[in-house]
Amino acid sequence: SWLRICSKLKGEVGEVEYRTWLTKIALGPIDGDEITLLLPTRFLRDWVRSQYGDRLSELWNQEISSIRRVELQVARPGDPVAPPIMLDEQVSSTAPTMAAGNDTEEAPRNPPEVKSDIVASLDTRFTFDTFVVGKPNEFAYACARRVAEKPSSVGFNPLFLYGGVGLGKTHLMHAIGAELLQRGNVSVAYMSAEKFMYRFIAAIRSQSTMEFKEQLRSVDVLMIDDLQFLIGKDNTQEEFFHTFNALVDAGRQIVVSADKSPSDLSGLEDRLRTRLGCGMVADIHATTFELRISILEAKAAASGVVVPAKVLEFLAHKITSNVRELEGALNRLIAHANLFGRPVTLEATQDVLHDILKAHDRRVTIEEIQKKVAEHWNIRLTDMSSARRARAVARPRQVAMYLAKQLTSRSLPEIGRKFGNRDHTTVMHAVSRVAELMERDAAFAEDVELMRRMLES
Ligand code: ADP
Ligand code: MG
Repeated sequence: SWLRICSKLKGEVGEVEYRTWLTKIALGPIDGDEITLLLPTRFLRDWVRSQYGDRLSELWNQEISSIRRVELQVARPGDPVAPPIMLDEQVSSTAPTMAAGNDTEEAPRNPPEVKSDIVASLDTRFTFDTFVVGKPNEFAYACARRVAEKPSSVGFNPLFLYGGVGLGKTHLMHAIGAELLQRGNVSVAYMSAEKFMYRFIAAIRSQSTMEFKEQLRSVDVLMIDDLQFLIGKDNTQEEFFHTFNALVDAGRQIVVSADKSPSDLSGLEDRLRTRLGCGMVADIHATTFELRISILEAKAAASGVVVPAKVLEFLAHKITSNVRELEGALNRLIAHANLFGRPVTLEATQDVLHDILKAHDRRVTIEEIQKKVAEHWNIRLTDMSSARRARAVARPRQVAMYLAKQLTSRSLPEIGRKFGNRDHTTVMHAVSRVAELMERDAAFAEDVELMRRMLES
């Protein structure tokens, strides 16, 4: 149960916070309705008590309902303690020595050191080298590289990266961090907006907002991931706005990511949105088939397992929404091949990925497609089958036919019948016309991809 509490806490407070404070807790005795938790120093005890005391009581109570109180004590030599729990490899390298009863130790004045955190929390797999560049992400990639090479250049501050889930925003931010650190002599802070909020609240609670502000404002590059999290969190937004201004005024670089463009983040304060849009705004578009293939090729090559082109194509066709899922599917294939020492074949793929593929195979109906497309382009549903030929009506109708062909197994004549008894050649024409337009017009292509994603999910 302690293990479960630990993993819950870790999920709530994040890896770094957890490692810094909570791995130092050891389990003491349970006495009636009270459990004792032991910490190596008085400072740690006070810190854990003020930051996590209530939460620890709650969690213990959920685990063992007879426990009503959590007592935090400084460990004394000879205390019967269960060792602290490590949830992963990394943690054990910083395992606390139970320097029991060290009450005289001078407590560090500041809570977690932002700079060192940040370095620690960069994922080393996410570098520019491992990022596969293609049409949909080349602009964002170029901007990220530029910022990593020359932080705070005019026109690139802030750098605002946005795009759908799993398209590489976090990857690019970590890559910027890694590159900057490699070049040395800069301090980089990376954290999710959620973490930012958590730290801000913790600082308020422990009356150390000044330290919090100072720490943040002392970095050369501040990166905040998934800013949409701050929607509706007005106080944290306000704090971020001030931090943002202070840093930009001092010539420091800011990098921010979100799932939408600044102007579409309607829950954010206007003045913040305005400032966010002031530098470089780079959109990561939905992946194309070509990019998905390139990413799969790169990852397969890195794994050392031979994956036939047919299998890669199959995956790139089936899993279109998000690179993370694509990667997950490939990893599973590779693990399977390694485990059983069998070559990867199309047949094996369908077998191993059975559940994933099924989820992506959800059949949409032509009616659903017509409805969604009509809503999206703001036309009447009846116009899907009407004879009207005005562009405003005909174009969405063509898109619906195109999607019907892509997403259902209906034949051209069948599709035609559902669109006011049109001829199969009309459908064929619509399909090729839409494909052609998607080639030429990126915004239109994105619209259609968006529809497809909505229909598929
Ligand atoms: P986001 O933050 O936009 O939701 P991530 O950066 O977490 O997405 O990316 C999800 C996964 O997909 C990560 O494992 C990342 O390495 C991988 N990924 C995304 N885009 C690419 C790319 N262009 N090349 C290589 N890997 C990618
Ligand atoms: Mg992310």
